[in-house]
Amino acid sequence: MGFIAEGNTLVWEDAEKYADYIRQHGVEQLLNIWNDQKDRGNDVFTWGDEVEYILVSVDNETKDIKLALRSHEVLAVLMQKEKLDPQNVDYLWRPEYGRFMIEGTPGQPYHGLGRQLLSIEESLIKRREEIESHLKENERILTIASYPRMGVEHFAEPYSSPNGLVAESQFLPDTVINPHFRFSTLTANIRKRRGKNVSINIPMYKDINTPPQQDHQTFVSPSNDKAEPYNQPYNIYMDAMGFGMGCCCLQATFQMSNIEEARNVYDHMAVMAPIMLSLTASSAIFKGLLSDIDARWTVISQSVDDRTPEELGQQPLKHNKCVINKSRYDSIDTFISRGNTYRAEYNDLPLVYDKPSLERMVGAGMDEQLARHFAHLFIRDPLVIYSDKIELDDKTHSDHFENIQSTNWQTVRFKPPSPGSPIGWRVEFRPMEVQLTDFENAAFIVFVAILMRAISDLKLNFYVPITKVDENMKTAHLRNSVVNNKFYFRKNITVSTGTSTGNVDEEYELMTIDEIFNGCKEEARESVGLLSIIRKYVAENKSFDAETNRLMDRYFSLIGKRASGELMTMSTWTRHFVQNHPSYKHDSVVSQEIQNDLLQRCFQITNGSTHEPKLLSAELITATGGAN
Ligand code: GLU
Ligand code: MG
Repeated sequence: MGFIAEGNTLVWEDAEKYADYIRQHGVEQLLNIWNDQKDRGNDVFTWGDEVEYILVSVDNETKDIKLALRSHEVLAVLMQKEKLDPQNVDYLWRPEYGRFMIEGTPGQPYHGLGRQLLSIEESLIKRREEIESHLKENERILTIASYPRMGVEHFAEPYSSPNGLVAESQFLPDTVINPHFRFSTLTANIRKRRGKNVSINIPMYKDINTPPQQDHQTFVSPSNDKAEPYNQPYNIYMDAMGFGMGCCCLQATFQMSNIEEARNVYDHMAVMAPIMLSLTASSAIFKGLLSDIDARWTVISQSVDDRTPEELGQQPLKHNKCVINKSRYDSIDTFISRGNTYRAEYNDLPLVYDKPSLERMVGAGMDEQLARHFAHLFIRDPLVIYSDKIELDDKTHSDHFENIQSTNWQTVRFKPPSPGSPIGWRVEFRPMEVQLTDFENAAFIVFVAILMRAISDLKLNFYVPITKVDENMKTAHLRNSVVNNKFYFRKNITVSTGTSTGNVDEEYELMTIDEIFNGCKEEARESVGLLSIIRKYVAENKSFDAETNRLMDRYFSLIGKRASGELMTMSTWTRHFVQNHPSYKHDSVVSQEIQNDLLQRCFQITNGSTHEPKLLSAELITATGGAN
C-alpha cells in the first residue's frame, strides 16, 4: 500500500490544519525531483511484482475457516532477515491494511525479460513456502482477492466485537486493521473528513430465492430514508475501509528508460487496466453474499472515498475547494504522454486540479500536461501526517509529495525517482486481482511485463478517449464481463501514427475481450489480436530462448483461454462452486459451511492436489510442475 513511516500520526482535527502546508511543500519536493531527474536516461528495464496474501485459520474440531488476525506476528519474523542484511534477501515482506494480510515482493528487481522470466513462478512458490514455514499448524495462506465472509458474525480469529473507535463499523472490529498507526489513522481520518462512515454499496446477485431485503436484516439501517443506497433492494451494504482495503491484488512496477517512455506506457496501460481487471476478476462474494459484481475495485474505491458532501456536489462549496468526480481510489483522469500517438481529444474528461499547485509547477517550467496530472493528485488532502515529519528539507525529502501520491490509488501510478536514489522513472500497474495459484500469478505478471516492453518497442497504441476507459472500468465489474460484455478498444493497435487527424470516434469500437486478445475473423473487422502481436514480439526477440518460449506459450495460452471463456475466471468459478454446493439455498447466502468447502478446494488447487479443469486446464500447469 506504500509509504509507511514510523512516528506519531495526527488526528484529523490537527492534520487538517497542515493540509495546505503539506501540499505546498509536496509540490516543492516534486519540483526538486523533477528538476534533478527529468533529463536522466538510459535506465535499464528493471521491475518487480507485489503479491498480497490472506492468512486464515482452520478450526481443528469444527473445520470452520476464519480470517487469522495474526499477520503482524508472522511479518515480524519474516522481516527479520531484511533488518539484518537488507541487500541480501530473496523477498521483501510488507504489512498491508488487514491484520490478516501480507505483501511479498522480490528482494531484488528483475532485470529485463528473457531467461529472467523463468524464475518468477519459482519466486512466487518460494515466497509462499517462506510464509508457510512461519505459520501455526492450523493456519494457511491464500491468494484470493476478497475474503468471502468478511463482516459476517465471528468471521475472524480471535473474536472481537465490532463498533470500535477507529472504524465505528457495525460489522468489522477494529482488530482487523493492521496495528501500524498508518492504517488506523487512514481509517479514522477518511471517516472524519467525510463526516460519516464510508458507505459501500454493491448489487447483490438475485438468485431464485433471494429476498430483496436480504442484507437489511443484518444491520440497523443508519437512515430511514428510502432513497439512501443502502435501503435499496438487492443491495450489499458495507461500512468500513477494511471491506475494500482488505482485498488483495497483483501489482507490478516497471522502471522505464526515461521520463518520456514512462509517460507513454503509463497512458497505454491505463487503457489496458479495465481489461486486465475483467480478465483477472476474482471476487464474487462480499459479506457472505454472492454479489452481482465480479471485481473488487469499486468496493475499495468506495471504502476510501473521503469526499465531503460539498466535494460530492451535494452541498454548495463553502469549506472545500472543488467538486470532485471520483474517489481517491479510481481510474486515472488524465493521460500524460506527449508522444506522437497522443491526441488531445483523448483527454476528454473535465479535469479537476489544484490551481495553486498547477500554477507553481508550470511557472517552474514543467509542461502543462504533466503538471495537470500532478495538480490533479493535489486536490486531495493529506490523510496521514506524522507529527515529527512536518518541517523537512524539500531538497532531500519527498515525504510530503509521497503523502499525496501514495493516497491517490489509481489504476496506474506514475512514480518519480526519490531524491538521491539510483531508481529512475517508474510506472506501477495496479488493477489486477490476485489469482489462486502461483502459475496464474506468474502468467499475468509476465504478460504485463512483456506488454510494457512491447508498447515501447513496437510502438503499440491503445489510446481511446479517457471517458471510454471509465466506461470500460464499469463494464469490467459486471458478472462474467470477459464473456458477456464488450469494451471500447482501438480497431488498430499497431498503427502508431497517421491516424492523427480523423474523427477520434472512428478509431475504436466495442469488442469482446476474446476479440481483443485472440483477434477477430469477421471480414469487415478482421484483426490478429493482442496475443498474437505479443507472441510474435517474443518470437522475434533474441533474449527469449527455446525454454523461455515454451513457458511463455503456457502463460499466453492461459490468458488466451481466459479471454475466450474456454477457462473461467476465478469469480465465475467461485459462483459455480457456490451455486452447485449441496447446502446452497439459492438465496445468495454463502454460509460458513459453503465457505469452508470453497476455501478447502482453494487450498487443494493451490497446492496442486486437485485440478479444476474449468479454471486451469491440466496441460497448462503440468509442464514444469506448475501450480505445485
Ligand atoms: N490491496 C489493494 C488492492 O487490492 C492495493 C493496496 C496497495 O496499493 O498495495 O488493490
Ligand atoms: Mg499492497
